[in-house]
Amino acid sequence: MKLNFWREALQLANTWTIARGSTDIFVVVLAELTDADGTRGVGEASPIRRYHESPATVEEFLRRVDVRRLSFADVPGSMAYLDALAPGNMSAKCALNLALLDGAGRRAGQPVYDLLGLGFREQQHITSFSIGIDQPEIIRKKVAAAADFPILKLKVGVPGDREILAALREVAPEKTVRVDANEGWQTREEALERLQWLAADGHIEFVEQPMPQATAPADLRWLKERSPLPLFADESYHTAADLAHCAECFHGVNVKLVKTGGVSAGFAALRAARQAGLQTMIGCMIETSVLISAAAHLAGLCDFLDLDGNLLTTNDPYAGVTAKGGRLSFQTAQARTGLRVTRIAPRAADASGPARENV
Ligand SMILES: [Mg+2]
Repeated sequence: MKLNFWREALQLANTWTIARGSTDIFVVVLAELTDADGTRGVGEASPIRRYHESPATVEEFLRRVDVRRLSFADVPGSMAYLDALAPGNMSAKCALNLALLDGAGRRAGQPVYDLLGLGFREQQHITSFSIGIDQPEIIRKKVAAAADFPILKLKVGVPGDREILAALREVAPEKTVRVDANEGWQTREEALERLQWLAADGHIEFVEQPMPQATAPADLRWLKERSPLPLFADESYHTAADLAHCAECFHGVNVKLVKTGGVSAGFAALRAARQAGLQTMIGCMIETSVLISAAAHLAGLCDFLDLDGNLLTTNDPYAGVTAKGGRLSFQTAQARTGLRVTRIAPRAADASGPARENV
């Protein structure tokens, strides 16, 4: 087995701002495994500072991997080796898990969703489209540009929350909106006041991560008991190991492949949440079509989808799942097996990317 990896600097269509910070360029790391028989698998890491990761930490982990321990024929065994190699490093492990499953699917002649026994319902899974924090005139433009998407996800968690929602409502008065506070509300009283205000809008479906991950469970339980809207854990739910805490403090969970360490653990995190009676969602970071398509293979386990990270960029080097009108489809994907992704842009001679950290 051979491992290659390289950086891709994704250019954002608009400066991306959430409660934690802003960025114009997001650097991801692509990884490709090639077996002796020529079978290839591609994967991606989208590392973020929030989880103590950067392109450099991903590369450092990948350089430590003994590729002789990785096999398309034994994905669980390969992942057990990677987990034993070092704790954390979830986005790096995610890149290799995706590459392993892509190779396993290509070799088996099956898409990953069939390998997992989930199947895929064409045009039935609907993703939201995200609107980052911005000035009211930019919010109005972004909401108008997203007219084809039936559901929006609005980032809040800053002092100007009311102006942000008011700007969205000027353009889309009755559209269904999911709200993400990204840990932005600091006290339970502040969070409850914002939740009551959001509920009065009448078209808010749920709210993600109202308070910091480190909030005392007693405060989160207090908020859950009183919240007029369902609360979803994102920063608080990484893997199935966080399930007991999240079942107590939230109504649902947002699973992301860069937090779980890939599709295999994402499958486990979603299934465990469902079995515990929680609502399930799959989300993303700023990513190429490799990670977005990989997440789409788990759509069958999700009540809600937020898979738009590639749509926020202008230079996605891969094609895979599409989201016309928000409806996920693999119909136009050239690849019939594995993750069903195809490289569409030439590899840049210098794709090392700028030295920076992703928010
Ligand atoms: Mg979130």
